[in-house]
Amino acid sequence: MKEPYEKPIIKKVQVGLMNKFGPSYGRHVRSEIDGVPISDLVARFGSPLFVFSERRLREKYRTIHQAFATRYPNVHFSWSYKTNYLDAICAILHQEGETAEVVSELEYQKARRLGVPGSEIIFNGPYKPLSALKVAAEEGAIINIDHFDEIYDLEEVAKGLGQPIKVGLRLNMDTGISPQWTRFGFNLESGQALDAVKRLVSGGHLILHGLHCHLGTFILEPRAYGRAIAKMVEFAYQVEDDFDLKIEYLDIGGGLPSLNRLKGIYLSPDVAVPPLEDFAEAICDTLLSRLRPNDFPTLILETGRAIVDEAGFLITTVHASKRLPDGTRAYVVDAGVNVLFTAFWYNFRLELEEDVPGPLEPCILYGPLCMNIDVVADQAHLPPLPRGSRLIISPVGAYNVTQWMQFIRPRPAVVLIDKEGHPHLIREAEDLEDIVARERLPEHLRLQKE
Ligand SMILES: *Cc1c(COP(=O)(O)O)cnc(C)c1O
Repeated sequence: MKEPYEKPIIKKVQVGLMNKFGPSYGRHVRSEIDGVPISDLVARFGSPLFVFSERRLREKYRTIHQAFATRYPNVHFSWSYKTNYLDAICAILHQEGETAEVVSELEYQKARRLGVPGSEIIFNGPYKPLSALKVAAEEGAIINIDHFDEIYDLEEVAKGLGQPIKVGLRLNMDTGISPQWTRFGFNLESGQALDAVKRLVSGGHLILHGLHCHLGTFILEPRAYGRAIAKMVEFAYQVEDDFDLKIEYLDIGGGLPSLNRLKGIYLSPDVAVPPLEDFAEAICDTLLSRLRPNDFPTLILETGRAIVDEAGFLITTVHASKRLPDGTRAYVVDAGVNVLFTAFWYNFRLELEEDVPGPLEPCILYGPLCMNIDVVADQAHLPPLPRGSRLIISPVGAYNVTQWMQFIRPRPAVVLIDKEGHPHLIREAEDLEDIVARERLPEHLRLQKE
């Protein structure tokens, strides 16, 4: 076949080492995921394609769980549904022993549908409609209250049930990191949290039995967790002593980082991201030094990203290549920000299905959308990729398959590779039917037939 003609340009190529900022992605090659060839996966399930590794998911869960369980005697993990609520992913983590952490009625129902009893669900979030609170209270879910109006709503629910409801309070506080998340829960330093306890106790319908705090996401500072748990213990004892309560759990939320590369942080994740043991140590050591003798409230973790991110890959195919006016090489690939919402924050790892000869060149990967913001990678260094080349993007297991959108293109299939190396389709690719299933066209708008 004749090579397509391309007007020659002269451009200084920066090779890997010369570039102190850019990740030198270069020649990472990945021809398989857990033993299954990329070419087989694409032949069977199409491109783009999300691929999850059951082995990696279980291993990461066990590693993180162990980091905490070896340091504190009463640890419990609850799976953050919004991070990834594909049934198969949730089922694996429930099998591992996690309960469900949900932040909406939809997620609550999804967990119930999967077979999780209400009593094994933690219900968080700022928007819990009365109907959802009623079901959650009846089914014995752990409800962490976000604001005063929710206290009033839950009091109504308790009156309706004719019995008091056990509840937790979500707190926000200064832990030395910025930006400080102040929009969720009750502020500790201002006294608002204490006011909430007073209100709750005086109402007589709710029983405070837990405290919750979720600092943010992708937090790189273990000491922030140490400060948070210290403040939670102090507050727990204050309210236990003053109001004759027992705080049974301290829920430190999620937010632990995965081995991903945040934009603006040029160090490799191995260097920039503290080991998860450092977080476990900061939390558990602080707990053990602050708790009273023989008091071991349940330490709950709602870790999402750190558990699932590295288990997820996205296979994408080069559709076209082009030169921008400034000479920059650009590729159009078949997966964009419609399926990779997290591309706005991360410089992912890029791997080639097979090595391609030729010099590495800085290049941009554009997705398939007709939108300027559709950029998958703006700092890639890749050899000249022929059309049809496949790239494997990772880690993409967190937040993408919940935040993806039906924008311009339907969503691709998702495959899980089990521990024996067998691929399972866990979500079919969408097509036009999925897009139009809920549309209704008023009679008077029907296009005239010829
Ligand atoms: C999103 C969220 C989590 C999980 O956060 P990660 O950063 O994915 O670990 C946990 N708890 C609450 C309340 C959340 O909103």
